[in-house]
Amino acid sequence: MTVPDPDGVGEIIASEDAHVAHNYHPLPVVIARGEGAWVTDVEGKRYLDLLSAYSALNFGHRHPALVAAATEQLGRITLTSRAFHNDMLGPFAEALAELCGKDLVLPMNTGAEAVETGIKVARAWAYRVKGVPADAATIIVADGNFHGRTTTIVSFSDDPEARGGFGPFTPGFVSVPFGDAAAVEAAVDAHTAAVLVEPIQGEAGVVIPPEGYLRALREVCDRRGVLMIADEIQSGLGRVGTTFACDREGVVPDVYLLGKALGGGIVPLSAVVANRDVLGVIGPGEHGSTFGGNPLAAAVGRQVVEMLASGEFQTRAAALGEHLAAKLTELLGHGAVAVRAAGLWAGVDIDPAVGTGREVAEKLLARGVLVKDTHGQTIRIAPPIVVRATELDWAVAQLRLVLAP
Ligand SMILES: *Cc1c(COP(=O)(O)O)cnc(C)c1O
Repeated sequence: MTVPDPDGVGEIIASEDAHVAHNYHPLPVVIARGEGAWVTDVEGKRYLDLLSAYSALNFGHRHPALVAAATEQLGRITLTSRAFHNDMLGPFAEALAELCGKDLVLPMNTGAEAVETGIKVARAWAYRVKGVPADAATIIVADGNFHGRTTTIVSFSDDPEARGGFGPFTPGFVSVPFGDAAAVEAAVDAHTAAVLVEPIQGEAGVVIPPEGYLRALREVCDRRGVLMIADEIQSGLGRVGTTFACDREGVVPDVYLLGKALGGGIVPLSAVVANRDVLGVIGPGEHGSTFGGNPLAAAVGRQVVEMLASGEFQTRAAALGEHLAAKLTELLGHGAVAVRAAGLWAGVDIDPAVGTGREVAEKLLARGVLVKDTHGQTIRIAPPIVVRATELDWAVAQLRLVLAP
């Protein structure tokens, strides 16, 4: 990284480059502070955050209610391990179960852990409840999926970058086209434990399935005796204008996988949420995590659930999302070749004549707007839900200038 270095920015980036593994390619900005929808770099320049840490910051940076919940808990106790009870896990689980309309919560930390947990639960359910022969259970997934970075999860990714060179892979997964419920049905057999899908594919570029897909999946799963597992780690918790993206079709999956915004952008917190007949299959000693269910994360998570229970963030995301989608649609034919939007979440495909998604992200950075590219030509827009309509207008105006200078 060679940039002019009057204030040490280049030095900071060079030091990170020298000592941090290169598993990311960050934009050249060094963030030092954040509040609401805005962050400030080490030189004092402000940027509107339209990534929200991949929707982990749905409530914005340092939301006062979340900071208060974390601060109060820091003054009491932060970690007990689950060798003992703590006084925060129960209230958090009760509130989250109620938000989801389910019985039980299994707390973990990262999204990938929630997915791994969901896979173990589905397999255990298949053997113990459905009667699938030992070690024969399969899980149907969708092409183009992103569920995390562990070796088992990349085993069913079709992204060459995510999986290439990391074999041998975990067997037991069948991938079918996303958005095609008939393909799922055709792939179901007596060994199928579950269908695992993102209701909207986030990393793929905010890919929205055809209307009716989730309802059709629900119907196939019911009829064929298969669990429906919704990975709502990025799509859930207010982002799309409803609590869950499944709500858009009035569908309730058997298992919710939650993460990202569940930790309020403060702590890693993920969860598997399901009814007792499914999640009850896991017994003591069969699964766990040292930090899973820790009182600090539970305190923050409980506050997140309380904020979602009022519905105000969902309503706000829906209204702002409509506004954003209308503005973005005006860019079609002016450097944008496709716009996909659901609530306050959009994927914009950039005309290759204008440049790559990365180049657009770099030019937006120079104009004070943070976005992230994905799959070459796409940029993702997922502002904190606390953003103002006027700020969105300003950001889209910057994008318009970048696309058609
Ligand atoms: C981010 C994400 C994950 C993985 O979450 P991590 O916390 O990064 O492990 C899983 N599923 C989906 C849909 C995601 O967007």
